[in-house]
Amino acid sequence: MVRTQVAIVGAGPAGLLLGQLLHKEGIDTLLLERRSADYVAGRIRAGVLEPGTVSVLEKAGVAARLHAEGLVHGGVEIGFRGHRHRIDLQALTGRSVTVYGQTEVTRDLMDARAASGAPSVYEAEDVTLLEVTGPAPTVRYRHEGKVHEVACDFIAGCDGFHGVSRRTIPSASLSVYERVYPFGWLGVLADIPPPWEELIYANSDQGFALASMRSTTRVRCYVQCPLEDHIDQWSDERFWTEFRRRLGGEVAARVPDAPSIEKSIAPLRSFVAEPLKYGRLFLAGDAAHIVPPTGAKGLNLAASDVFYLSEALRDFYRASGAGQSGGEAERALDGYSVRALRRIWRAERFSWWMTRQLHQFPGDAFDGKLQHTELEYLFDSRAAQVSMAENYVGLPL
Ligand SMILES: Cc1cc2nc3c(=O)[nH]c(=O)nc-3n(C[C@H](O)[C@H](O)[C@H](O)COP(=O)(O)OP(=O)(O)OC[C@H]3O[C@@H](n4cnc5c(N)ncnc54)[C@H](O)[C@@H]3O)c2cc1C
Repeated sequence: MVRTQVAIVGAGPAGLLLGQLLHKEGIDTLLLERRSADYVAGRIRAGVLEPGTVSVLEKAGVAARLHAEGLVHGGVEIGFRGHRHRIDLQALTGRSVTVYGQTEVTRDLMDARAASGAPSVYEAEDVTLLEVTGPAPTVRYRHEGKVHEVACDFIAGCDGFHGVSRRTIPSASLSVYERVYPFGWLGVLADIPPPWEELIYANSDQGFALASMRSTTRVRCYVQCPLEDHIDQWSDERFWTEFRRRLGGEVAARVPDAPSIEKSIAPLRSFVAEPLKYGRLFLAGDAAHIVPPTGAKGLNLAASDVFYLSEALRDFYRASGAGQSGGEAERALDGYSVRALRRIWRAERFSWWMTRQLHQFPGDAFDGKLQHTELEYLFDSRAAQVSMAENYVGLPL
């Protein structure tokens, strides 16, 4: 049996970033990931970073390439009824967001972990969490046909929505809040220079579309689609025709039929399981919560969770190292869930609000009228724009 201070389950952004933040504090970790390193490094997901996330990545020592290659955006646009309205994030809040793909964040974190020498096990099968409510939890897993056990002080469950960590907690000890939306997002990645300067969120009669980007040579575009659709029904030509129709105006005319290099359909869901601490097991990132991607919050919440968790673990080890009573050291850990959930619920509210205002919902004319009224109010009112902008750039950590 090997020993570590914190066993981290999952090498998504939450697990990798937590490992790096704890390494900076001199805390040992072992990272266990179900997939191969190549699979993790190649996964295409989010791409908009709040300034708070950038500062956490700086603290973790992994922001050099992000600063060199990330695109700083001082605004976003909302398309509605043939017009585009710019929300000037920089003027309204003094802050901007940075466009830098989750794939790049992951690569920077994997490189930093390899350079630090901290151990990682990829393709770890049947990860099982044992004795999580006792003083000495254990993680068992299978790798290359052999069973291994890790003794640790704590387990960080960073293994996403479908992971084992949340399922280890008895349902009586978790409260779950959930909303499933009646549509999905069909996403396409393509290698063309973006024909737009900033992200455009379009609410059209045909449904929502998002014109986004990952770099100066790569776009990421989405259209709202029925949940039961399959990507085989969406040729590249059909996707771009629909995307242009929803985006509208002169910008749509500049969008070519680019070949897709990735195409997928994701369901939209709001989900929170709380509290985030069960004995010596902590949940962080998508293991504990999901937001619909409309507010660009999923990756950012994973970063704020693990920032708070790294501070709680740092304070625990400092207090226990300084010979303070067990109770005092444990208290450092108890605050994590409360602190993280406060920010999680604010991001849940904002992501729900963005989703509500920008998509076509089936069948309710009253809700449709309210949606139009809400958007018109946003375009007319500086106060409403400040509210949207401060949530979009992210509330303070
Ligand atoms: C298809 C898709 C598209 C998205 N697009 C956007 C977007 O455009 N904008 C946005 O803001 N957010 C988006 N998100 C959300 C964002 O990517 C996530 O919020 C973010 O990845 C959360 O990071 P995480 O580390 O908590 O979880 P994850 O990234 O899910 O990482 C969890 C890790 O745990 C591993 N794991 C799972 N089970 C086990 C196990 N039993 N044992 C060991 N390891 C395990 C997984 O393989 C994975 O590597 C998207 C998510 C998805 C799924």
